[in-house]
Amino acid sequence: MSLFDTVKSNVTTRQAVEFYGLKINRYGMCVCPFHNDKNPSMKVDKRFHCFACGEDGDVIDFVSKYFGLSLKDAAIKICDDFHISRDEKYKAVSKTLKPKKSGEQLFEETCKYYYKVLSDYLHLLKKWKIEYAPKDEISEWHPYFCEALREISHVEYLLDTLLYGDISDRAFLIEDCKREVIDIERRLNELTL
Ligand SMILES: [Zn+2]
Repeated sequence: MSLFDTVKSNVTTRQAVEFYGLKINRYGMCVCPFHNDKNPSMKVDKRFHCFACGEDGDVIDFVSKYFGLSLKDAAIKICDDFHISRDEKYKAVSKTLKPKKSGEQLFEETCKYYYKVLSDYLHLLKKWKIEYAPKDEISEWHPYFCEALREISHVEYLLDTLLYGDISDRAFLIEDCKREVIDIERRLNELTL
């Protein structure tokens, strides 16, 4: 029997989905890992099918896509994880693989990262606005005070967009503010050293 047939006759997609830690509800559905799924849209049985994004296939397709492996490596991994004997000529696949993240997951994580950096910065700016406020009319304005006056509303606007903006606004912001957010993060790290 070929490697692929061996795998498919021994392991259903449902077994693999459970083995790799996804929850299956009593209707045999799970949250689809291949799109930004909120409710279980993926039916898993011998094969799988997502009613939302249309991903479909057998257990090897699932594992291949989930871990970002070639079909052959996915089949080898399933054999080894389920202790199915296989031809020794196939090289074992690393055991420490992490599920591959979907584009949507990466996007959400980037949004969260931007939000964290920018809200830390806003917090600091608000502190500076008070702490470095000029004591009297003749003293020179502290650069931190000037920065606070200049940046607070801009940073608030960015945070609002990250929270309430639609996907295209957020995508635009992420592209547009990459340099700025990286610089802010580096500065925050230096300031808190
Ligand atoms: Zn899906």
